[in-house]
Amino acid sequence: MESFYRELIKEVIDKKLDLDKTLKLRRKLCRKYSLRGLPSINQILLRADKEEFRHLKHLVTKPTRSLSGVSVVAVMTKPIKCPHGKCIMCPGGPGSFFGNMPQSYVGIEPATMRGLRNKFDPYLQVFNRLEQYIVLDHMPDKVELIIMGGTFPSFEVKYQNEFVKYALKAMNDFSKLFFRKGKLDFVKFKEFFELPGDIHSEGRAKRLRKKVLELKGKSSLGEEQKRNEKAVIRCVGMTIETRPDYANLKEANQMLKLGCTRVELGVQSVYDEVLKKIERGHNVGDSVKAMKTLKDLGFKVNAHYMIGLPGWSERKDLDGLKRLFSDERFRPDMLKIYPCIVVKGTKLYNLWKKGKFKALDNEGAIRIISKFKSGIPRYVRVMRVVRDIPSKVIEAGVDKTNLRQYIKGCRCIRCREVGRVEEHGRPILRVFEYKASGGKEFFISFEDEKNVLFGFCRLRIPSSSLRKEIKGSAIVRELHVYSPSVRIGGKAGIGQVQHRGYGRRLLRKAEEIARKNGVGKMVVISGIGVREYYRKFGYRKEGVYMVKGI
Ligand code: SF4
Ligand SMILES: [Zn+2]
Repeated sequence: MESFYRELIKEVIDKKLDLDKTLKLRRKLCRKYSLRGLPSINQILLRADKEEFRHLKHLVTKPTRSLSGVSVVAVMTKPIKCPHGKCIMCPGGPGSFFGNMPQSYVGIEPATMRGLRNKFDPYLQVFNRLEQYIVLDHMPDKVELIIMGGTFPSFEVKYQNEFVKYALKAMNDFSKLFFRKGKLDFVKFKEFFELPGDIHSEGRAKRLRKKVLELKGKSSLGEEQKRNEKAVIRCVGMTIETRPDYANLKEANQMLKLGCTRVELGVQSVYDEVLKKIERGHNVGDSVKAMKTLKDLGFKVNAHYMIGLPGWSERKDLDGLKRLFSDERFRPDMLKIYPCIVVKGTKLYNLWKKGKFKALDNEGAIRIISKFKSGIPRYVRVMRVVRDIPSKVIEAGVDKTNLRQYIKGCRCIRCREVGRVEEHGRPILRVFEYKASGGKEFFISFEDEKNVLFGFCRLRIPSSSLRKEIKGSAIVRELHVYSPSVRIGGKAGIGQVQHRGYGRRLLRKAEEIARKNGVGKMVVISGIGVREYYRKFGYRKEGVYMVKGI
């Protein structure tokens, strides 16, 4: 390994290779030394000494200001119980079979492990994740912060505020510490994180935690939000997980205050009797109400839906999934399908042991999902099909992790994203109108004739004005433009989209549609780090939103 690095670094310097040529050489030398994975460019740079690094600076990745190329940073909250008790299939939680875990996690998911290592401190977790991104050549300048670990809005408000404040502060401090004029200060980064080093060494981890915690200091939520608007590492989206009975106006307003833009909503079933059986503590009516409130406030809603819950049949589960979209009271923007699995330490496990519950198996799940495929509308993004619980803790139920392949090529957003397809034609502007949760939705998109998606905007005429900023206005709930950030080492060129101002044109179209609907004001729910982007188009901050008279 060491000789690989030496030869590579020497040749790049001697021949003054640019990034492209360096990537080719890396491939060649990997073959020569029979290395299994490709080390990242930054891993290579970390091996260079100071003198060598002076000649390699041009290889450091730079941040870009666009709407695409988001890096997910998942942070875990401390373990607390859900307010209603515990659903019968839910693994984990405080004092669970798996130890003291956040509710619904078993402790071996990457985000949970990072949470545990960092004692669920948001500042440490974010710092840790950003470091990993950089080492892997991924410039994390646009962060989607995902807050995981149960029902976040049921935590004390003070905890919520502190949690988000420090997650943002970590992004801001990281930006300040390791970037100069928008460029990564590689030497400082290397020294701070003691790289290259033994990442499995407890000693190093301890020293780093101590160092990072010394930076944590004091601040306020408002201050860190403000700082983040212009930081190198910006929070462009924030996701919070919650239950429908903890997504009412009160909780939603608090989420807005934090800067949240997307809510993962545990709908789980469209049947009251199923929700009752799993001791869910809320009913379908709560889900309907939550979806309406959230959409009217501009949130994107990612519904979680479970198949194979007690009382399941293939027919019923398929109908349930279909109803999510045929019934305008639901119609979420995103969907995660989780087949129910049996895990030790749950009530469901006991039922299963006694022969009172039969789990839905792989074949059944595949049948349901394949039949559901044609019912997936074009405005939804199917985020996941199956939860990534390690199969070793699954006692019964679906343990195949590649169920997604059975809906491959469906009409959902994900299957049509330009970065995922090899070829595309010229994009044209399209508008798809539909009703959802009592409001009017417009899915405005740039697509080619084969439906390949270049970008889209979700515009809503809300069913009611739940806040003073929204009176007499339409609301942009999402604006997304794909430009497959061609990652270093990726297949550069294929499917690459230039930024031909798609964002601007989508927004203009949204404003035009809003005017036609007799609305004089546009409200945008904007990630903290995207506010600057909207300012370019004449938007200004009002309350928790970006607004403009149209
Ligand atoms: S609401 Fe979610 S996290 Fe809470 S007990 Fe139920 S399944 Fe687990
Ligand atoms: Zn799809």
